Amino acid sequence: MKIAVDVDGVLLDLMDTYCEVYNEQFETNYKKSDVTRWDFFEEWEIRERDAFEIFHKIYENSSDIPFIDEYALFVLKEINEIHHVDIVSARSEQYSVQLGDTLKSHGIIDGIHYQHLILVNEKPYDIKLRLNYDLYIDDNPHLAWAIKERTEIVLFLYDQPWNRNINEKNKKNIFRVKNWIDINREIKGLELLLE
Ligand SMILES: [Mg+2]
Repeated sequence: MKIAVDVDGVLLDLMDTYCEVYNEQFETNYKKSDVTRWDFFEEWEIRERDAFEIFHKIYENSSDIPFIDEYALFVLKEINEIHHVDIVSARSEQYSVQLGDTLKSHGIIDGIHYQHLILVNEKPYDIKLRLNYDLYIDDNPHLAWAIKERTEIVLFLYDQPWNRNINEKNKKNIFRVKNWIDINREIKGLELLLE
């Protein structure tokens, strides 16, 4: 299987850091759990451009963003031995070195835990589907909407407050995962199906 693993919201808990920076700048009191939409900035009444500027500021220095789940290291190493794992992020190419270094600081090493680091544009929101992976591990609800009709592709939707509006219950190719233990179990399930 060709597997695309997302970074923000799947490996790094970016939105905690985002809220901290945002609150400092605008004297607000938002928490990650308040981010209930992908386009949360519309509700928070700031311009999209300003919202993205904060993302870009954080991308420039990602070293303070907390790692989501230490168990990811074990799972990535194991699945990268059997499958082809790439890390695929919608951060622009200019943050490539910074992101590689951040991953390395958490023990995620290219060649061991993944093959390539691939960066794509932020928009369109389902742009990653053009890369033709068999399995996407991602928190983006837009991918879930786009993948519904593409039954040959599987999405593990990493549970986050901004994707809970996705009802995956009767979708055969979308599985909600809450942590990397869930991911490990679901991948084992897929492997059995493919045998
Ligand atoms: Mg993400």
